[in-house]
Amino acid sequence: MSRFRMYPTPAQAEQMLTHCAHARYVWNLAVEQHSHWRQGRKSAPGFAEQCRQLTEARRENEWLGSGNADVQQQALKDFAKARNARFTSGFGEPTWRKKYKHEGFRVIGTDRVPEYSADGSPKLNAKTGKQVMGRSVVVHRLNRRWAQVKVPGCGWVRFRLSAKGKGGTLPDAKTFRVTFRNGQWHIAFAVIPEPTPAPGTGEVIGIDRGVTITAALSDGRTPNCPHLTTKERAKIRKHERRAARAEKGSPEKAAEYAKVAKLKAREANRRKDWCEKTSTMLARSYDLVRFEKLNIKNMSRSAKGTVEQPGKNVAQKSGLNRSILAQGWGLLRQRTEHKAPGRVEDVPAPYTSLRCSACGWIEKKSRKSQADFECVSCGFTCNADTNAATNVAAGQGGIPRPRRTAGAGGATAATSRSSAREPQPNWVGIPLF
Ligand SMILES: [Zn+2]
Repeated sequence: MSRFRMYPTPAQAEQMLTHCAHARYVWNLAVEQHSHWRQGRKSAPGFAEQCRQLTEARRENEWLGSGNADVQQQALKDFAKARNARFTSGFGEPTWRKKYKHEGFRVIGTDRVPEYSADGSPKLNAKTGKQVMGRSVVVHRLNRRWAQVKVPGCGWVRFRLSAKGKGGTLPDAKTFRVTFRNGQWHIAFAVIPEPTPAPGTGEVIGIDRGVTITAALSDGRTPNCPHLTTKERAKIRKHERRAARAEKGSPEKAAEYAKVAKLKAREANRRKDWCEKTSTMLARSYDLVRFEKLNIKNMSRSAKGTVEQPGKNVAQKSGLNRSILAQGWGLLRQRTEHKAPGRVEDVPAPYTSLRCSACGWIEKKSRKSQADFECVSCGFTCNADTNAATNVAAGQGGIPRPRRTAGAGGATAATSRSSAREPQPNWVGIPLF
């Protein structure tokens, strides 16, 4: 991963925050332009047209004109990319960027380097036959630990080479992105990482993701995603309480909220780190990685309901949602796919937890509790999550049985506690946070 922590001087940080503001402003203008589009209207302006409009806007608007044109144009480029990928990226239509929340900008390298095709021959212009020159980021290594990069208007900004970059070569990229989140600056170089080679042993691993055990592997291992400690959670509550009592708009209130944000960022960092390590381990040691197919968006949907039809157990559901999202299920799957492209499969989830991995019998009574599985047919006993993971490894989701019909064609109404559902944490007394 070519992402490093940046350490700008206060003056540089101020300049970079201005870049963030310009990039956000231009991005949001683009979002607004595209949100006006309706069926039957002329299409919203594309990248080239938007760039022309940007030049005009820079002439008329002094604040915009004082900013860096490259940074603003790259924001439009980012928008165009995000919009083109809206059906495949998983993020959908590009949406508004918010101050303090989405701070960042992209910088295109200033160095010119000759471009080469995939087979190593120099790329030539089709018309003139001249060598095509591409952009490259100017990075300069200071010593083993530190390097610096040129950011427009800021000069050289230092960044710290973390474990991977220390001994290796410096990232060779056309562009990089600078982000500011939770009081920290980061730089990410746009490089496509080399896929991890498969071990070639033909081994298949199944992964069952759950709330009590983050990822149960079919080989019996149960790696767990780290959370905040009880002490850290108490600290969050303390600062939240102090913030709530502080005067509105006071610096004390802001300081307390900043402390809360810092602790929450720590939890997210821990989760990300765990996902990176686990996905690397999976990609390195198995030829095929099978996940059970989850629709996390639907699973963590709010139970709130509407004003006319308020939902039931809203607080419990929101607690469960929080713990679902705290597991990093989606990230683990995504990062494994990045590291082992083409070696990750999804297995349909129904009945993976109720099917006996030894004889294939599907019976809800086999699952004795959250942790224990005992087949009622063959007597096979196993940890319930490991059993499910073994089913996933075998690619066996089980065959969904038809619902018992009531009379001709009519289906019986689902009971409040479906027999096909996994035992929920709150039924079996597992605390949700
Ligand atoms: Zn069995």
